[in-house]
Amino acid sequence: MRDDELPRTGSATVHILQPGYAREDEDGEHVGSTVTLIRDGAVTVVVDPGMVASRASLLAALAAHAVTPESVTDVVFSHHHPDHTVNAALFPAARIHDHWAIYDGDLWISRDADGAELSPSVHLIATPGHTAQDITTLAATADGVHACTHAWWGADGPAQDPFAPDQVTLATSRARILALATVIIPGHGPAFVPDASTPR
Ligand SMILES: [Zn+2]
Ligand SMILES: [Zn+2]
Repeated sequence: MRDDELPRTGSATVHILQPGYAREDEDGEHVGSTVTLIRDGAVTVVVDPGMVASRASLLAALAAHAVTPESVTDVVFSHHHPDHTVNAALFPAARIHDHWAIYDGDLWISRDADGAELSPSVHLIATPGHTAQDITTLAATADGVHACTHAWWGADGPAQDPFAPDQVTLATSRARILALATVIIPGHGPAFVPDASTPR
């Protein structure tokens, strides 16, 4: 699906289960990814199941939306860093999506994530930058498109991603996302509405 064919509004609902963070404490470096719940019709999606400080707290946040772990139909990995992936097995019935495949039980279903549809209002696009295999989840809600992405760690970028092998590729992906999304849900911070100060 081309970008201009992707829905700008839709029936998805989006809730952040854990705003991500990365901080240095006395006992070491603490890292949690943003964990996001997206629902659209029969589809219940968790984008980036974490690292989290407490799996029980994550499941409690899910329960607050009347969602059981077994009812999660899809898990998306924004990319393959463990702080975004290690809790996938909390959701035993979920298909798992990454940049090049869907994993369903022991089925490895190869496909390109770019333009992949999870539901009429939830799509994936390839957004290399932070890693070469990054993807962004686009959820079209009544209020516009929410983009779950690691193209930004938080609202302030960083402008230069220290992990990115190629800043030009990252800038290209950021421009593509900004042309589509009204709200950015970044990898390690609260959601933000992009403006002139948003690193490109
Ligand atoms: Zn990462
Ligand atoms: Zn991360």
